[in-house]
Amino acid sequence: MLSAEEAEAVLAAFPLPAGESETVPLSAAHGRFLAADLLAPVDMPEFDKSAMDGYACIAGDASPAYEITETIAAGTPPRFTVRPGRCARIMTGAMLPEGADRVVKRECTVEENGLMRIVAEDPNPNVRRRGEDLRVGDRVLSRGDRLQAAQVALLASLGIAEAVVARSPRVGILTTGSELVPPGPPLRPGQVYDSNSFSLAAQIRESGAEPLVAVHVADDREATVRAIASQLESCDVLILSGGVSAGDFDYVPAAMRQAGFTLHMEKIAVQPGMPTVFASRADKIAFGLPGNPVSTFVIFEVFIKPLLLRLQGHAYRPPIVPAIMAGAFRRSRAARSAFVPIRYEEGRATLIPYHGSAHLHALGRANALLRVAAGEQTIPAGRTVDVRLL
Ligand code: AMP
Ligand code: MG
Repeated sequence: MLSAEEAEAVLAAFPLPAGESETVPLSAAHGRFLAADLLAPVDMPEFDKSAMDGYACIAGDASPAYEITETIAAGTPPRFTVRPGRCARIMTGAMLPEGADRVVKRECTVEENGLMRIVAEDPNPNVRRRGEDLRVGDRVLSRGDRLQAAQVALLASLGIAEAVVARSPRVGILTTGSELVPPGPPLRPGQVYDSNSFSLAAQIRESGAEPLVAVHVADDREATVRAIASQLESCDVLILSGGVSAGDFDYVPAAMRQAGFTLHMEKIAVQPGMPTVFASRADKIAFGLPGNPVSTFVIFEVFIKPLLLRLQGHAYRPPIVPAIMAGAFRRSRAARSAFVPIRYEEGRATLIPYHGSAHLHALGRANALLRVAAGEQTIPAGRTVDVRLL
């Protein structure tokens, strides 16, 4: 059985099909990953402009009063050249008139009878120079960078209306389990609400990938093989939940083989999530995850998300930060590494009452996972540990 670290390394080194790219309008680019380095098509800003509401004049012109030649609004080009003893009333973002090289902010001036006088020292030039932020051809962002709100704004500010991004991998979700029903109607005896198709779809989306509508099958080997085959027609990656353990009705690994997959991992020494399966068939990748909801969530977060991001050209480094244990952690068996839902606040890791991988309450309140190394049975309060932010 591979250790968690070995499994991460196998997945990180697994050869993936070359990603395709597509062009999307900026309004649809949020959350996507750039497929190529992005160079500035223009200088930023594109012209010298005022950083303040005030008066544009000549630095070093110490006239007792300045004649106001015009008012320059943002969006309207100036008409006159500023000469000694003169100034132009100018608004924030408006083009600096020729001759002027400073703006005295309004608060430092008084205006009377068409004359402006400086009544307080304004030490700042208050001018945004053409190209001071970016020059044509400068690298703005790199291939693999994610377009979040700030990056989308940056592209828009440069006049870029479309982004060339990695195609989102299509990820199929196949839940197995004869006991599962969709949330809504009351449960009949023995039934369980399917939560994994919801957590997986959300996690897939958060990874920039596209979740396909989840498909459900009962614990039936042939039905599982058929569902795998039909899902594969439309997805790049297939995630199966449930049916990978040693129970009488756990058919997923056999069904994956029967569907033509080669299984590269059938267990990872991790808690929760030990019976995780990783498999491939030509360009298609599949995971079989144990059905306990916390297992499904954690295995996706730790092992699948980095792979989905790599498919989109993004080298993911999980946000792992040091934290001080607020209380002691103990576990009965320490052979596997473990991921435990915790609260991380102000540098402290606080354990949440956690009743095992079948129960989602702790995860619902968690904002991080505590990584407990294999062999580590207890962690005393006050010890510095690594936590992985969610
Ligand atoms: P399995 O991995 O199929 O042995 O399932 C382990 C446990 O997870 C069982 O208690 C299942 O009822 C539960 N389970 C399996 N699939 C899901 C699912 N999609 N949503 C919620 N619980 C599930
Ligand atoms: Mg099952």
